[in-house]
Amino acid sequence: MAGWATKIEGHTIPISTPGDYFAYTLREPIGVVGQIIPWNFPLLMAAWKLAPALAAGCTIVLKPAEQTPLSALRLGELIQEAGFPDGVVNIVPGFGETAGAALAAHPDVDKIAFTGSTEVGKLIVHAAAGNLKKVTLELGGKSPNIVLKDSDLDRAIKGAAHAIFFNHGQCCCAGSRLYVEQEVFDRVVEGVAEEAKKIRLGPGFDPATQMGPLVSEEQLQRVSGYIEAGLADGAKPLCGAKRYGDQGYFVEPTVLVNVRQDMKVVQEEIFGPVVTAMPIKELDEIPPVANDTIYGLAAGIWTRDISKAHRLAQQLRAGTVYINCYNVFDAALPFGGYKQSGWGREMGHEVLENYTELKSVCIGL
Ligand code: ADP
Repeated sequence: MAGWATKIEGHTIPISTPGDYFAYTLREPIGVVGQIIPWNFPLLMAAWKLAPALAAGCTIVLKPAEQTPLSALRLGELIQEAGFPDGVVNIVPGFGETAGAALAAHPDVDKIAFTGSTEVGKLIVHAAAGNLKKVTLELGGKSPNIVLKDSDLDRAIKGAAHAIFFNHGQCCCAGSRLYVEQEVFDRVVEGVAEEAKKIRLGPGFDPATQMGPLVSEEQLQRVSGYIEAGLADGAKPLCGAKRYGDQGYFVEPTVLVNVRQDMKVVQEEIFGPVVTAMPIKELDEIPPVANDTIYGLAAGIWTRDISKAHRLAQQLRAGTVYINCYNVFDAALPFGGYKQSGWGREMGHEVLENYTELKSVCIGL
């Protein structure tokens, strides 16, 4: 992102209005930016937000999540130590309903960039209406992960497990809905369950730990509530579906089969280590079911057939489509959502649009 600072350019534009004109565009910093971030990747989310806004020349008030303010505050100290002028980066911890809401509504804030739940994203939009500040949103997901029978199944199984269990499933793009071609369904879901059972749960400070606790008791209740709702609706667990131990907020990695598309566990974002798996009979069935949630953040496809891969990539309504990989993020690759997964894109060239205004300059010669 630091590299962008010297590459934010306008265009010279040959206009066709009669007369003699020279016209060009400038990209200018949008102004004072409010940024509100979640707890799931506290330092990384701060970096994703601060870096492009600084490269574009904005000043920033960043509000970390109330569960995880410390790494952002430490980053603030380092920013001071690095010699940023006072007032350019302001880290303001606080609760969402107070500090977050005040930032989103503030008349002197020109732009609000939010990452968090779709529900709060809608509150941000309402709060921003007062001064019509610009808004970008990176919201929830319920991303489909599709395994075709011609894929490298061992790789697909490991990939599907990683897609959901990475960061305990506390990841907006988690591959939380697995769709598998019928002929290989049993092998794939059993394989993913085997991978799940191998994950070592434990405290985050233990080097042997592969999955720590969920972030809070509230999140434990939320994830447990979804698992219970799934079981009550008739879902069958191949593994997990329970709390791990009786201390801390641990949930066992869970694979649910015998699910239907209309179940709550298939439709709603759980934000925990819980994947639902459904068999697919015909390829034509895939786009309608894969696209059948309010979200559109990411999707995965596992296949060796390039035609199927590209065709499906076009048919999926998702901001990122991973083919034979998952959870790959890069500063050069735009990331963001279709539908209720958000507005705008982080990363890539596109992120600069979030933090710049476009000025047209027209000169009569
Ligand atoms: P999550 O599900 O990740 O906890 P939230 O959307 O609740 O997502 O929280 C993400 C961020 O939004 C946090 O920094 C939180 O404090 C903030 N937040 C929560 N409610 C509001 C609100 N009403 N207005 C502004 N920010 C809010």
